[in-house]
Amino acid sequence: MKYKTLFRVLQHLVGLLVCAQGVVLVASQVLGNSLDFFASTSTRPPIAWWRFIPVQGIVGVALGSYLFFGGKWIADLAIPGNRPYCDECGYDLTDAPGDSCPECGTHRHIQGS
Ligand SMILES: [Zn+2]
Repeated sequence: MKYKTLFRVLQHLVGLLVCAQGVVLVASQVLGNSLDFFASTSTRPPIAWWRFIPVQGIVGVALGSYLFFGGKWIADLAIPGNRPYCDECGYDLTDAPGDSCPECGTHRHIQGS
């Protein structure tokens, strides 16, 4: 297995695990906060509304989904060959405007995409 393929498989697996953990965290936070709300006694201070938002779980689900459905920024950072380069001078053509290389002016032929 090529290292790029291995990296992507591992990235998908980590994304799936982080997403699943986020879903469990959302469920437990919502359930825990609901129990706190309904079981609270008059001696405890009232729970602020923002404590009902399961922030940790939502962040987990978002991060896991990003990793599972591509994670292009992380993949490009980890795998330099993933980025487009100019055939002639090797200039990194990521986000370069137009259809020619800004460094040497050669007509763009993208490698590695
Ligand atoms: Zn060039």
